[in-house]
Amino acid sequence: MIETINNAGRYAPVIKCDVCGKQITDAEMALALYPVNVEGGSVPTLHVHKGVCDRKASAAQGDEGGTDELDTYLYYLMHNAGVSFDRAKSKADMLSLL
Ligand SMILES: [Zn+2]
Repeated sequence: MIETINNAGRYAPVIKCDVCGKQITDAEMALALYPVNVEGGSVPTLHVHKGVCDRKASAAQGDEGGTDELDTYLYYLMHNAGVSFDRAKSKADMLSLL
């Protein structure tokens, strides 16, 4: 799940594992899991740590689940949201100075 945390008065977006609830701090060590073969519409997506957490989520989801590495999934998400990576980085750099 995506949340915003208050870190000493500064707010920061984080992704927390949908299985253990801990923050995901290394996208290469996490996955996005979602059901496939669902007719129409969209499906909920789980964000989980690789290992114990993804095995628990996958067992609950069954064999029909899709999987993306979290970093790849986030790239697709940003692309589909029309994010310009250079513009977003520029804005984030500017806001970090405030
Ligand atoms: Zn976890």
